[in-house]
Amino acid sequence: MKIAVDGPAGAGKSTISKILAGKLKINYLDTGAMYRAATYLTLVKKIALEDSSAIINAVKDCDIDFIDNEIFLNGNNVSEQIRSPEVNKAVAVISRIPEIRDIMVAKQKKIAEKSSVIMDGRDITTIVMPDADYKFYLDAPIDIRAERRFEELKAKGSLVDMEELKGDIAKRDFEDKNRETGPLVVAGDANVIDTSGLSIDEVTERMLNIIVKKVNRL
Ligand code: C5P
Repeated sequence: MKIAVDGPAGAGKSTISKILAGKLKINYLDTGAMYRAATYLTLVKKIALEDSSAIINAVKDCDIDFIDNEIFLNGNNVSEQIRSPEVNKAVAVISRIPEIRDIMVAKQKKIAEKSSVIMDGRDITTIVMPDADYKFYLDAPIDIRAERRFEELKAKGSLVDMEELKGDIAKRDFEDKNRETGPLVVAGDANVIDTSGLSIDEVTERMLNIIVKKVNRL
């Protein structure tokens, strides 16, 4: 079974995909974490964000692996580091480089071939798994998505400026939707769910209903 989930930042994709993976007993792949790891590597190696060829070479030579939903870069667990504000700000610059997308998409397609999986990201319904059994596009207005991120960060003990957070998310959305390669678009055959006003459980339930309905029709 292949499930593809796309949508902008803060729509609830990863939280819900993880829950669905648990319920359906399939693997979960957070593709955003892969672009974040590539970005973290670029920052640690102090490569200029304009130097695409140095970024491509560094990413080509690195190992990105997942073990129990934790992400490892060259053998080191970087699950915390890839969520830093610096990575948040730079990730859309790295992920618009076509060669970086080719590297990541090839890895993701290989994982999709091997086993049942739910993947979330920006180009999963369109490029990585255009043949997915189920496609979802989760969305919510920017104010609600920013509010959720704010609460997530607050729970972790970091207080950020709400307006700055909203500005960063809006900028990243714009860059993700307007890049030439693998932009975030709503696939024609995706189930679009506006998650505003819905709890995590309610969104999960809606997605499960769509999956069960289709399974029953087969
Ligand atoms: O999902 P998350 O917000 O962690 O993704 C971080 C960034 O990685 C996105 O804003 C986007 O620039 C990039 N990304 C992408 N394609 C994907 C997943 C994420 O370009 N499939």
